Amino acid sequence: MSPEMRPPRPNGYRDAWCAELSAARAGSEARVAGWVHRRRDHGGLIFIDLRDRSGILQLVFHPDAAPEAHAAAHRLRSEHVVSARGEVVRRAAENVNPALATGEVELAVSELELLAEADTPPFPLDEDGPVDEALRLRHRPLDLRRPAMQRALELRHAVIRIIRSELEARDFLELETPMLTRSTPEGARDFLVPARMSPGSFFALPQSPQLFKQLLMVAGYERYYQIARCFRDEDLRADRQLEFTQLDLEMSFVDEDDVIETLEGVMGAVFAGAGFDVGAPPWPRMSYAEAMARYGSDRPDTRFGLEIGELGAALRGTEFKVFAGALASGGVVRGINAGARELARSELDALTELAKLHGAKGLVWAFVQEDGSWRSPVAKFLGGEEIARVGEILGAAPGDLLLIVADGAEIAAPALGALRLELARRFELVPEGAHEVRWIVEFPMFERDAETGRWSAVHHPFTAPTGDFADPETMLSRGYDLIVDGWELGGGSIRINRPEVQREVLSLLGMSGEEADRRFGFLLEALRYGAPPHGGIALGIDRIVAILGGHDSIREVIAFPKSASGADPLTGAPAEVDVAQLRELGLSLTAVPLNE
Ligand code: ASP
Repeated sequence: MSPEMRPPRPNGYRDAWCAELSAARAGSEARVAGWVHRRRDHGGLIFIDLRDRSGILQLVFHPDAAPEAHAAAHRLRSEHVVSARGEVVRRAAENVNPALATGEVELAVSELELLAEADTPPFPLDEDGPVDEALRLRHRPLDLRRPAMQRALELRHAVIRIIRSELEARDFLELETPMLTRSTPEGARDFLVPARMSPGSFFALPQSPQLFKQLLMVAGYERYYQIARCFRDEDLRADRQLEFTQLDLEMSFVDEDDVIETLEGVMGAVFAGAGFDVGAPPWPRMSYAEAMARYGSDRPDTRFGLEIGELGAALRGTEFKVFAGALASGGVVRGINAGARELARSELDALTELAKLHGAKGLVWAFVQEDGSWRSPVAKFLGGEEIARVGEILGAAPGDLLLIVADGAEIAAPALGALRLELARRFELVPEGAHEVRWIVEFPMFERDAETGRWSAVHHPFTAPTGDFADPETMLSRGYDLIVDGWELGGGSIRINRPEVQREVLSLLGMSGEEADRRFGFLLEALRYGAPPHGGIALGIDRIVAILGGHDSIREVIAFPKSASGADPLTGAPAEVDVAQLRELGLSLTAVPLNE
C-alpha cells in the first residue's frame, strides 16, 4: 500500500527522493536531502545511508575525488540532516544490495551541506528492535522516524484515503460536527471543558457525533460521513485511547441491508487494498443469540473450532446436583471439546480460575478414555448414558478434554467464550494468515443491571427497537456490529425517527420526560419536524489499521498516542495550569494535584 511518490520540486535542498534513484538514473546528477541513517568508514571511503520519507540511498564519499565533501562526511553522526549532490553510479556487482530499492546504485557525493546536527538519539533508529514504550513515547518524533512507524502511518493514510474515495463514489458528503458540545450518550465518562463565557457551565467533548449525524439526516443531507475524533474518559487498554478516530456515517431512507452493503463496499475495498483476505462481500451475518450460544461472545473469533455445545437436553433428569441445580433454576449446562490435550492439574486449575473470573462457580473437566468413560472428578456422579450423550454432542473421542460450565446463561456463555480464546492462544489454534469477517445482528435492545434492576440500552438509546415495550426483555434492536477475527471493528443501527418512540425508550431507561427534554430536547424537537428513516454506523479507524498492520496495540498506529496510563510523556499532558487561568474560568481546585 506504499504510495508512489512524485519527484519533488527541485530546490536548493534536493531534486530527487532517495528511493527514486534506481539503476535507470545511473550516470545522471542528483541532489538529495535527509537524515544520516547509518555510517560506515571503509579504509578511506565513507558510506552513509541517507534516509528520507521515500526510503534509503547509499552515499559514497571518495577522499581523492571530493576531498572537501569527504572531510565533511567524517564529522557526520547518526541523524544529522544533510543535503548531498553527486553522480548516480552503479555499484560493483558484489556490492549490490537486493534488500534496498536503490541497492544497485549509490550517489558519489561531490558536494555536501550539513543542515542540522543531531544529539545522539536515546535509542537506535536504524533498526526495528524492541525499545521500551515509555522511552519511545517520550521521544515520539524520533520514534516516528523509525521505518516501522512510518509504514504504520502510511497504512493509516492509505486506509482513510480508500474510505474517502469509496464514500465519494457513493455520494456521501464529508461534514464536520462540533467538538465543544453537550454530553453524548455512548455510555462512557465525558471529558468536560469549562466555558469561560458562562461561568459554572461546561462543554463536553463528543463521545461520538451520534446526535449531530442524526440531525444532519433530519436536515436532509441523506448521506454523511466524517473521520471523526471521539473522546471517552475510560480506563485504557491496548485497544483503547482517551481520544480515538472513527469513521462515522449516516444515511437516510435506508434499512439494515443498505448500511451493511455500503460498509461491505467500503471495507471490502480497504481489506483488498491492504491484501487482507477476508473473502468477498456479502459477509456472513450471525444473530447475537447464536454468537453467544456457539462462541460465548458477541464478537466471536470464528477462525477456529471449539464451538460451545448445549448439554441441557442430554442431562435432563441428571442426579448430579451441580448440573441439576443449574438447569432447575433456569440456567444452562454447556461445554466445549478442547481436543486431545494433556493438561496438568495446575493447568486445569488455571482454566478453572479463568472461568471463575467470568463469574462461573466452577469448571468441570473430563478426559475421555479409550472406552468412552471419563477421567474426571465428577465422573462418579453421572450415568454412562449421560456421559455418552454429552460426548456425542461435543464430538468427543478418546484423549479429548471436555470443559463444562453449569450456570446462568449470562455467565456460562462468557466463561466458555473466554476459555475458547485461552485455549486457542495456548495451543495456537488460529491457522496462520486466516481472517474472518462477519456481522452480528439482532441484538437485544435492553439489558437489565443485575444489581439495580435498571434497564440500559445495549447499543445506545437512539437505536430503533423491534418488539413490544410491554416486554423489554424480549425486544431486539436494529443494530449491527462488524467483527473481524474476534475484534469489534464497529457498530451501528437503524435509528428511531419518531419522537414518541424515542420518548418511550428514554422513559424505559428511567429518564423522566423532564430529564429527556433537558438532555436530548434538541433531538426530540428535531424529530417532530419530519425525520426520515435513517441509520448509520461507526468503525474504529485505529483498530482497523492495527489489525491490518498486525499490531497488538492501537498506539502503534497513532502518531501521538497517550500512554497506557492516559498521559502523554512527550508533552507532559495532562498538566497543571496557572491559578490565573483557573480564576478566569471561575474554577478552584478541591483536589490537589499529586505532584504537589
Ligand atoms: N455512535 C455509535 C458509536 O460511536 C455508532 C453508531 O451508532 O453509529 O459507537
